[in-house]
Amino acid sequence: MRAQPKASHYINGRFVEDDSGAPLPVVYPATGETIAKLHSATSSIVEQAIEAAREAQPAWARLKPVERGRILRRAADILRARNEEIARIETLDTGKAIQETLVADPASAADALEFFGGAVGSYNGEYVDLGGAFAYTRREALGICVGIGAWNYPIQGAGWKSAPALAMGNAMVFKPSENTPLSALALAEVYTEAGLPDGLFNVVQGYGDVGGALASHEAVAKVSLTGSVPTGKKVLSLAGSLMKHATMELGGKSPLIIFDDADVENAVGGAMLGNFYSTGQVCSNGTRVFVQKGIYERFLDRLTQRTKAIRIGDPLDPETQMGPLINKAQHEKVTGYVGIGKAEGATLHQGGGVPSLQGFEGGFFVEPTIFTGVKDDMRIAREEIFGPVMSVLTFEEEDEIVARANATEFGLSAGVFTRDLPRAHRVISELQAGSCWINTYNLAPVEIPFGGYKQSGIGRENALAALGHYSQVKSVYVETGDVASPY
Ligand code: NAD
Repeated sequence: MRAQPKASHYINGRFVEDDSGAPLPVVYPATGETIAKLHSATSSIVEQAIEAAREAQPAWARLKPVERGRILRRAADILRARNEEIARIETLDTGKAIQETLVADPASAADALEFFGGAVGSYNGEYVDLGGAFAYTRREALGICVGIGAWNYPIQGAGWKSAPALAMGNAMVFKPSENTPLSALALAEVYTEAGLPDGLFNVVQGYGDVGGALASHEAVAKVSLTGSVPTGKKVLSLAGSLMKHATMELGGKSPLIIFDDADVENAVGGAMLGNFYSTGQVCSNGTRVFVQKGIYERFLDRLTQRTKAIRIGDPLDPETQMGPLINKAQHEKVTGYVGIGKAEGATLHQGGGVPSLQGFEGGFFVEPTIFTGVKDDMRIAREEIFGPVMSVLTFEEEDEIVARANATEFGLSAGVFTRDLPRAHRVISELQAGSCWINTYNLAPVEIPFGGYKQSGIGRENALAALGHYSQVKSVYVETGDVASPY
């Protein structure tokens, strides 16, 4: 299996290599084989990318927003036309099942390009009547924005960051996760084909040090990171020390609350989507599943049956529903948490093992796992595992559950299943989380803002909120009379 791109980086409209950079092997998580060999960016590569962005951005910002938008919308169409090919790259890079990447990855990036390409033309400043005088505000580009991606949704992350940035007239230097460097290069090619001027979307590969070099570069105006909370703290400090704008999309340990009156099949479906999709490697996952006592047996029964039926295996087989975890370290982390859960006294109700799959012995697979009898203070209920490990907890009263759900330093997401609509809205309004669902889970369409409360992040991706975060406001006071000066 080979997936070697033309070169490691994409700068100023073309592929660029500097093989003096540290080796960056790309491993297919289903087999453990190396499918491409790339290099981390040297400081010369970082400077080339920043310089290309610096040269290209001012002219781009001066275009009419609809002209910028037209290019983004064209790129969305090209991305959709190349969906199958790029979904395959994404599966090779991440190990996620092709039945997911075909519908969720390039498609979601294309949605972002289409949405922001259309929205930017009507995203205007304000006119303010000052009684004779007036003022207006302009939404201006920030300049060079840096995007730093996580490995679970590589092209989606690249699209969610670059589309609003470019729409608002910025240039972007994007660093994919070192685990998943490939699909951002495909996106860069798509942008060029769509007519995006060279230098506006540059991809540099690398480890954390390259992310740090970009985030602290004096020419950079904004940093948008998707990653873990510890990385977020480091990057936000770097950006803050230089007063750069920052958006942080970080981790979570989100509550999913299932009341007695919920539709059982839907609640089970939501809990499975919120724990097992993308092999559980989703930041917004509802990994603390709180089930009210009256529905507990029925819920667990159906959850168990449906979980047992999940098909794990070859990610490129369209029938496969769950692929491997991203890499060995993540595999060790997730299986380690299975051990921690058992040692803490939780009941390993389902899964927890490593499946043996012929032909995929070197892959990083783990079974979808359900713990019952979980208590709030157990580590498996407090720490982000980032794998298919669901903790099921029980509760009796609405008042009790809101406090328990909020007792976490995270605040990315939350969900409620109930047929009682007043209760659904009442509970959601009390939950400390930025991205919430009622009677579903984990849907993140581009039309609605996405992001976290508390330590799960700052700023929002998607929707018009993202255009705000990729721009700055200039207020202009216009005098129509004489200057009233006391001097
Ligand atoms: P990570 O924090 O290890 O890495 C994220 C990115 O930051 C990578 O590109 C990495 O190279 C870079 N990086 C690492 N150290 C850096 C530093 N010091 N300076 C600059 N950049 C640095 O996260 P990950 O393991 O790739 O992704 C998993 C995490 O991301 C989970 O915690 C998950 O919850 C979170 N996540 C959040 C969202 C969201 O939108 N909220 C989405 C996906 C993933």
